[in-house]
Amino acid sequence: MVMKPDRREFLKAAAAGVAGVTLRAAGLGLPGAGARAYAADAPLAVTHLADNLILVSGAGGNVVGFKGPEGVLLVDGGDAAHSAALLRTVEQTLGGPVTTAFNTHWHWSHTGSNEALRRAGVKLIAHENTRLWLTEPVFEQWENRTYPARPKALPTQTFYKGLQKLPFGGTTVEYDLMPQAHTDGDIYVYFRDANVLVAGGVVSVGRYPIPDSCTGGWTGGLVKATQQLLGVVNDQTRIIPGTGPVQTRADLAAEQAMLATLHEDLWQLMRKGMGPDDMIAAAPTRKYDAQWGNPDLFITTAYRGLYGHVREMRGVV
Ligand SMILES: [Zn+2]
Repeated sequence: MVMKPDRREFLKAAAAGVAGVTLRAAGLGLPGAGARAYAADAPLAVTHLADNLILVSGAGGNVVGFKGPEGVLLVDGGDAAHSAALLRTVEQTLGGPVTTAFNTHWHWSHTGSNEALRRAGVKLIAHENTRLWLTEPVFEQWENRTYPARPKALPTQTFYKGLQKLPFGGTTVEYDLMPQAHTDGDIYVYFRDANVLVAGGVVSVGRYPIPDSCTGGWTGGLVKATQQLLGVVNDQTRIIPGTGPVQTRADLAAEQAMLATLHEDLWQLMRKGMGPDDMIAAAPTRKYDAQWGNPDLFITTAYRGLYGHVREMRGVV
């Protein structure tokens, strides 16, 4: 079986999720079958962000590598299909073995190198919830897919919340948990000296971010998480999204404003008794679709997230 570069690309009609909504993958900005084959074969692209700091794209999810005297620190590991090529590229470009790595969240597009990293004795840092999602099978309703447990992929060092600081390469790498947003274990990793923020799946480019309600994500958390990131960055910060090109603070601010508006608008539609089909028909995202693409998956997963937070949202009915 060919591993595909991003788990979201496993979308198919059967994955329509709640209430039989038909998702049109082609309209989501996701590559079709031919594009997937191309993406899997395409060479990885390396962008130099600073001295000893690189972005590797094309490995499923974005990966950042940082070289210090201790070895190489990696933020995320792409998907399993690209793992060998990714690790080879990182080690050749930065000239050293990976000794420390982060997972920004549990999704397979970002944790695909975990087994290899564990075999190599790498210290693997993540939020505790990321570890927990890898310890058990996860059924993703929006993809109609079950992700089996990966006992050989578990992070070796986890934390719960609060700003963490890791001395590495003569500098300090900062990381912290975000509110339940894309998942319930989203962390950012910030290279303050280089002013590079790795944002994981919370920051999305050209398609709506997914509040993965099956593993704790929801729009209320995406609103707060993007707000939190705005407090970390400045106008010169380069922001690395889960996939796609480097973003600026202005890009992040636009995403945050979009999310805040749609979170409230979808909530109001829910209060009127609408289900996800009704919401899609009401086209509440109309003015954003030119930038963010087909909203069906976003609306469907947002609905499920809102439904799971009804009490927090002051009660629906
Ligand atoms: Zn993700």
